[in-house]
Amino acid sequence: MKTTFQLLLCALFVSPVISLSYAGNSSGPESGLSLQEGTKQNSKCGTVEFNKRVLERYPQYKAEIESIEKFTKGYEKTDNLIITIPLVVHVIYNLPEQNISDAQIQSQIDVLNRDFARLNADTVNTPAPFKPLGANVQIQFCLAQRTPNNEFTNGITRTMTNIVSYTVDDTSMYYASLGGVDIWDRNRYFNCYVVNFTGTILGFAQLPGGPPNTDGMVIGHKYFGTIGTVVPPNDKGRTATHEVGHWFNLQHIWGDEPGCAQDDEVDDTPLQAGENGGCPAFPLLDACTTVAPGVMFTNYMDYVDDNCMNIFTIGQSTRMNAALSGPRASLITSNGCTSVGINNISSEVPESFLLQQNYPNPFNPNTNIVFSIPKSSFVTLKIFDIAGKEIATIVNQNLPSGTFKADWNASGFSSGLYLYTIETDGFRQTRKMMLTK
Ligand SMILES: [Zn+2]
Repeated sequence: MKTTFQLLLCALFVSPVISLSYAGNSSGPESGLSLQEGTKQNSKCGTVEFNKRVLERYPQYKAEIESIEKFTKGYEKTDNLIITIPLVVHVIYNLPEQNISDAQIQSQIDVLNRDFARLNADTVNTPAPFKPLGANVQIQFCLAQRTPNNEFTNGITRTMTNIVSYTVDDTSMYYASLGGVDIWDRNRYFNCYVVNFTGTILGFAQLPGGPPNTDGMVIGHKYFGTIGTVVPPNDKGRTATHEVGHWFNLQHIWGDEPGCAQDDEVDDTPLQAGENGGCPAFPLLDACTTVAPGVMFTNYMDYVDDNCMNIFTIGQSTRMNAALSGPRASLITSNGCTSVGINNISSEVPESFLLQQNYPNPFNPNTNIVFSIPKSSFVTLKIFDIAGKEIATIVNQNLPSGTFKADWNASGFSSGLYLYTIETDGFRQTRKMMLTK
């Protein structure tokens, strides 16, 4: 709760190798301890360690983080917009079983979208005193629908590598020349690498303000999603929820040091001395919060088991949205969630056409799919060929009430009957259209 930004920097970056100096404040032995705490062998999350190494390679990171922190402190969320982030999942595998299925990947996307909307079923397990602090972060995720070169993709790349396993010291997954995959433009996509890890690390992420080539998150395939190769107790997709939190600038809830002077720069999370594991009984008191309701061990930014964590707070949500308004703002206008061939949905004034229709029809090659929605909601538009194969999609576009159109350019498709489906909250309609060449 109490925050001291310079101490935060120390927790992240003071190391025997880097030795940033903060003479004059209370960094010192306590921060040295924090390094030990944050990097010990049994850490689940490698983010603190990874970002220390980023600083070694990229000295301007420190000034960037300070600047971002200033912006974050002054930020207030003033709108109710829900932003959908295009996610690309790069699967890097050595053995065939590490080449996880599309379904396992989709199970992770589903977890992220539930957790970030606070629609996860286990909100019932949030202790009652903390429930009012639970936040809908208003960030959602789609698998990318177009590549950086505007070609069709399902948002998943698959690369076989000779590297048997990765560690937190390794960035080679980020480079095609080293057996990995080059990152897609971090200003348009959130890059998620799924790899095979050695040791106890489950994942790590780069914080905002770092270099572009490694600005994503990396998750072990055994901890990604809820089916397939996942292994308990990290089998509910919460490693990615935690690492996405870091990518949007969240710190660990205990502030990566064992003392109480420094914490996570978030006002509504209780002070906490260190990380928690397993699944403690509520209430849990510690040296920094000695009275009930105690520490918030069910927070996604603690180290408890997947089935024990269930909350981002309002303060954490504000901090993530600050990242999305500042260093990550270019994602808001990314077209990565929009299929090639469909232009972004835009407002439309009804003219002579019927609602939930397309015009012209028959068409070649462009048609406008028009629809109206009675109240603000998510809209998904899918286009299918007559065999039922999905050929273009706009996922989870958040729109106010009104009438809209989406332009579809069917160049490259052959003449025939096509279907489009509009899905909104409580509404689904499918109609036919004819491409005539
Ligand atoms: Zn972490």
